[in-house]
Amino acid sequence: MELRFDMQYEDAYREVYEMVKPRYKLFTAGPVACFPEVLAIMSVQMFSHRSAEAKAVHVDTLERLKKFLEADSGEIILFPSSGTGFMESAVRNAVPRGGKVLVTIIGAFGKRFADVVEANGRKAVIFEKEPGQAVKPEELDEALRKNPDVHAVTITYNETSTGVLNPLPELAKVVHEHDKLLFVDAVSAMGGADIKFDEWGIDLVFASSQKAFGVPPGLAVAAVSERVFEIAEKMPERGWYFDLPLYRKFNEKKKGTPSTPPLPQIFGLNVVLRIIEKMGGKEAWLDMYRKRSEIIREGVKEMGLGILAEPGYESPTITAVVVPEGMKGIDVYNAMRERGFELAKGYGSVAEKTFRIGNMGYMTFDDIREMLDNLREVIEKLKA
Ligand SMILES: *Cc1c(COP(=O)(O)O)cnc(C)c1O
Repeated sequence: MELRFDMQYEDAYREVYEMVKPRYKLFTAGPVACFPEVLAIMSVQMFSHRSAEAKAVHVDTLERLKKFLEADSGEIILFPSSGTGFMESAVRNAVPRGGKVLVTIIGAFGKRFADVVEANGRKAVIFEKEPGQAVKPEELDEALRKNPDVHAVTITYNETSTGVLNPLPELAKVVHEHDKLLFVDAVSAMGGADIKFDEWGIDLVFASSQKAFGVPPGLAVAAVSERVFEIAEKMPERGWYFDLPLYRKFNEKKKGTPSTPPLPQIFGLNVVLRIIEKMGGKEAWLDMYRKRSEIIREGVKEMGLGILAEPGYESPTITAVVVPEGMKGIDVYNAMRERGFELAKGYGSVAEKTFRIGNMGYMTFDDIREMLDNLREVIEKLKA
């Protein structure tokens, strides 16, 4: 038997293609450009998510993620949602209604975690830093001494709005000394910054497919500790769609996910995890991210622009650039778009005086140099 899938309505495809076709080289905050190998696997014909083939890919993806996140002691969970689904899930499964969560905020995505805590009837105790600053271990220690009754601490590993990487291993140590649960938003970190789930003792760390993995949006990934499952199993009204013990049960029976997952995204993620292996493994891959971000930071500094992140805490996946007095971040963004480069606008409270350059997903070092050459000209023109 031969399977054929001929396009009979190619004009329908063409009409939409005109709306969505690639127009820019992407240096975005997500969604980001994807490897062609990822896009190719995502266009295969669909089949049942309950088939043996789909289940095999699911199990293989879990195993590869477990290795990548060094999470032998954890359960890998895939949600048919964006990363924010895991904020909701962490709160509903592991914090009792009315219970307190210490939410550390260094930018817009820390604020979102506080909103999710409150929207689910839990109390957010806020510890907030100025944009560009990271949370320091001694500050977290002090905040926890003042608030001994919190159930959990949330940390944004990589704050996408400010381009700051929090010192997660050191912060995790402090959280353990106070014997609290640790929830980590690693949405723009996972795949671009190291995560050692077992060694650092994380309880729940999550990300979205469309950031540093370079896969289209629609899939969320997390590693979850045994401690969370013990609490969750006794948690009343933890919901169904994001019920962690239910997902674990499906994993254990090699049944996939409780509801239909975005199969193409899972295939795409599996391809990326294999590309990482073929590149020489996690160290080589993370090194590539480090180099990309270093080249970008060096380049913008040479142009006389500022970096919002305090020295020593710069993100390996995104750079928030501070423009000189009298210039607006949005003007740089617009001028770069005219030249065919999509950067990211400033975000949150620093929106006006910054723009951002992401280095996630599919790009070459030549793309980065070409972008910097154009940026240099744009800045010179705006200064004149
Ligand atoms: C993008 C981002 C989010 C939101 O992710 P969604 O996939 O839109 O749910 C949350 N936190 C951080 C740090 C992000 O970069």
